[in-house]
Order: sequence, then C-alpha cells, then structure tokens
Amino acid sequence: MILVINAGSSSLKYQLIDMKKESVLAKGLCERIGLTGNISHKTDKGVTEYETPFPTHMEAFQELVKLLTTGDLAVISSMEEISAVGHRVVQGAELYNSSVLVSDDVLSALETCSELAPLHNPANIMAIRACMEVFDPSVPQVAVFDTAFHQSIPKHAYLYSLPYELYEKYKIRRYGFHGTSHRYVSDRLAQLMDCPLSKMKVVTCHLGNGSSITAIDGGKSVDTSMGFTPLAGITMGTRCGSIDPSVVTYLMEKEGLTPKQMDDLMNKKSGYAGVSGVSSDQRDLMQAAGEGNKRAKLALDIQQYQLRKYIGSYAAAMGGLDAVVFTGGIGENSPETREAACKGLEFMGITLDRAANAACRGVEALITAPGSKVQTWVIPTNEELLIARDTKEVAGL
Ligand code: AMP
Repeated sequence: MILVINAGSSSLKYQLIDMKKESVLAKGLCERIGLTGNISHKTDKGVTEYETPFPTHMEAFQELVKLLTTGDLAVISSMEEISAVGHRVVQGAELYNSSVLVSDDVLSALETCSELAPLHNPANIMAIRACMEVFDPSVPQVAVFDTAFHQSIPKHAYLYSLPYELYEKYKIRRYGFHGTSHRYVSDRLAQLMDCPLSKMKVVTCHLGNGSSITAIDGGKSVDTSMGFTPLAGITMGTRCGSIDPSVVTYLMEKEGLTPKQMDDLMNKKSGYAGVSGVSSDQRDLMQAAGEGNKRAKLALDIQQYQLRKYIGSYAAAMGGLDAVVFTGGIGENSPETREAACKGLEFMGITLDRAANAACRGVEALITAPGSKVQTWVIPTNEELLIARDTKEVAGL
C-alpha cells in the first residue's frame, strides 16, 4: 500500500493506492491548514467531510491516518500496512533527473531548490518533514519531481540567451513542469499504440488551469513550453504565458509596480481571465463565447492558435511527429478545443475523426481517423499513480 501526497502551503491532497491492483482505496483533501482546518475523505464505502483544527501539516497527517485506519470508512487496519509514502515535489532543479529516496541530505538539497520555487517547494518540504514525524522512520519517503522528466532537454533548448554567467550564478534556465503528467501519458500512449516510445516522436498537451506542451523524442523530453517557472509557454487560466520580456519593465515603469505586483499581474490577473474579463475557467469562457461575448471568443482563439503553433513547432524541432496526446481538465473534456487545436494540421498528417473526438470526454480514446499518419489520443492523466509506481521502485518494494 502506498500513500501519495501532494501538498500545498495550506492544503494536502492524498491517495492510498493498493499497488497489487494499482487501485485507489481512499483519497481526500485537507484544506485550510494553519487556519480552521477541513478534511474531505472518500472511499468505496462513502464520503465524509468535516472541520477540525489543523495548526500544521502534522495534524492533517494525523487526521488522515485516523480516517484510513479507524471508523466506518477505514480501508486498512493499521498504519503498518502503508509500506511507503510518495511526495510530489515541484522543483528538483538540476539536482534530480529521477525520483529519489528522501534523506536528511536530500531535504537539505531541496531547501536549496526552494529559491527557484518559493511558492511550492517550502510547502512540499514542510509536508515531507511532518510526514516523517507521523510515520515510523523505517517507512521510506520518496520525492517525485515535476521537473525531473525535463532534465533530458538539451542545453540549446533550455538555456535562455542572457549573459551566461547568470545561468552559472543563479541557475536561470528552462526547467519545465507537469513532468509526471507528460511522462504518464506518453508511457500510456506507447501501451495503447503497442509501439515502444523509443521509436516515437510525440507532442503531449497538458491543458488545465495550468497548461504545458512537451516534445518527447524517443521517450525523452526534448523541449517543453513552461520555463524557469510555470508562467511561461501558452496562455493559461490566469497566467499570461510567454510575452515579450520588455513588456515587464515597461509596465513596471508606467504603472509604478513593484516586482511582487508585476508577478501577481502576470500570474493571477492575466491569461484567459485577463483577456476575456469573464473567467479563467474554460467552461465559463465557452459559454460566454457561445452567448456572443467577443473577448471570451478572443481568449479561446488565442488558446487554439497557440496550441497549433506549439504542435507545429515541436514537430519541426523533432523533425517529425507520430502522435499527439491531449490531457488535463481541458484536454480530456473539451472536444471543441481539441478539434480547433488540430484544425489546419492536416498537412502534417493529423486527420481528426470528428465523431470520435466529439464523443470523447474524460476517457482514453483515439480521435484521429484510420489511416491518419499522426495518431491523436485523449489520455486522462494520472500523476498519483506514476508517483506511486516510482515510490514502489525507488523504495525497492
Ligand atoms: P485541471 O487544472 O486539469 O483540473 O483543469 C481545469 C480546467 O478544465 C478548467 O478550465 C475547466 O473549465 C476545464 N474543464 C473541465 N471540464 C471541462 C469540460 N467539460 N469542458 C471544457 N473544459 C472543462
């Protein structure tokens, strides 16, 4: 049994996975850690949700362990049945190109990565430390990084054209994120196509509130749209994506913005929300555009144009394309977005099966016509399962 943890600064998502069948026994969410505290917990037997104080992540762990082991919704009889814990960690920088067993040295190394991901890594580290207090020291804790899959990106694709010393001094470069998702869907694609990934050139599109596109050649990430932070790449719910960097200094001067205010503007007030003035949520945008809202329609046009541009440019960068995958909340559930993203790409060999695409929501499906040179698939992502698989392997279970 493996417990998978995805912690934020005030929240903690968890799944308990039975690795014999790779099935989820229980999952839940602890929220408002440091404030009032709230937990929702779901198993095959039912659901519960209640408020309880969570001064720190430690109390949240204690509560979830209590729910897993006692009461009506218990799925295991003791904590000893949990053989390892897998943690999602956002930034592993250049230190980690694969998942790793957590030790004191690893924790110190993760602290050094925090400067590169100040919003995420400190929360991940805090959760690992709290978990280590609650669990017996003999239970392996494994860190699985969002960035690790992208460590194979070659230098000419990850280096920004700034003075080289700044890369050496601050490690400023493209890291890429959503690595666990891109790796999961590409592995699954190889199974579905019954073709080794080592023989394929693939573009994976993870489209959700945060979105990233990855070029995968021979099973290795060779380029990805997110960069030094998850702000870069295609336009997202509230993030502007890649823009001319001069806009940043120009706007800061014109509007008298501090770095923090500028950061907030680009991360929280831009993207589809900023362009449309309607919402960051794809469903709201589609509804508003359908009712004639021009700026909502513009936001969707921007999204679809950028998707085509990335798919085309990554095919060119790899010198070919065998398959495209759509995943994430939008990629899995929006046939309209997928159709628009593939429109005009027939010249590259993508021939959509419109009926198969229209019928596919949230399930695995091939959405290109028989004979399409480039197969296009919808594959729901499962980052937790990949974290659990890595944890099992790294812990030697
Ligand atoms: P995620 O961050 O992966 O959870 O994805 C969230 C995004 O998926 C939001 O923009 C949602 O509006 C979008 N989404 C979820 N369901 C649908 C749907 N049925 N049609 C279009 N977009 C959807």
